[in-house]
Amino acid sequence: MTADQRLQEIRQEISTCQLCQLAKGRLNAVPGEGPSKVDIMFIGEAPGFHENRQGKPFVGQAGQFLDELLQAAGLNRDQVYITNVVKCRPPNNRDPLPEELKACQRYLDEQIALLDPQVIVTLGRISMAKFITDGRISAIHGRTYNVINRKVVTMYHPAAALHQPNLRQTLIEDFARLKRFINTNSSTLPVDKEPESVVLPPTPEVTPTKTAQESKKQEEKIIQNESEEQKPPEQLSLF
Ligand code: URA
Repeated sequence: MTADQRLQEIRQEISTCQLCQLAKGRLNAVPGEGPSKVDIMFIGEAPGFHENRQGKPFVGQAGQFLDELLQAAGLNRDQVYITNVVKCRPPNNRDPLPEELKACQRYLDEQIALLDPQVIVTLGRISMAKFITDGRISAIHGRTYNVINRKVVTMYHPAAALHQPNLRQTLIEDFARLKRFINTNSSTLPVDKEPESVVLPPTPEVTPTKTAQESKKQEEKIIQNESEEQKPPEQLSLF
């Protein structure tokens, strides 16, 4: 079986998955999207309102901003794979629970193994925590780490800028740096720092630490908070 065929099979498995309680509330699971061989993979947190409706990742307001950020990095969606650590929408866009992360990790781990990207860009602290256990996103956003023969770049979640407008410029600058990384030979991607603590797949249980709780307070809720009652989106533009 080719990697492409197995990726398609995984899509099917995710679409009928019953491994956690999120299955009950979903309209559509969101396995991820992109070519079956990529250099760069983006990993967000979990589907939001629009993703649950459409079965595609990052199609809401945060997704529009992600498109602009990709552009800032000289990329478009056709060139990258985009997915989430959790494939079904948590109720009211709450953080995924440890048991939901655990149940879903097999899918992401296999997607990473099959796609074999040189660079993984984590979007937000939940995704970052899969690879870097002791970092705070506010301190390590935009950095590149060596994690098991891949580069992991830790970005703020695009939705963070919807809630904290001052983070917009930070994200734009971090993605512009990503462009410079990509434009160099990927084998010479600059590495800012070796992580003090790296999580080797599979993802361990996530138990909130003091640091995580502190960072959570500092951060706005980064998952896309798009619900039926939400006000119309503000116009987002990078330039
Ligand atoms: N937020 C995410 O983390 N992922 C999506 O797919 C959409 C919003």
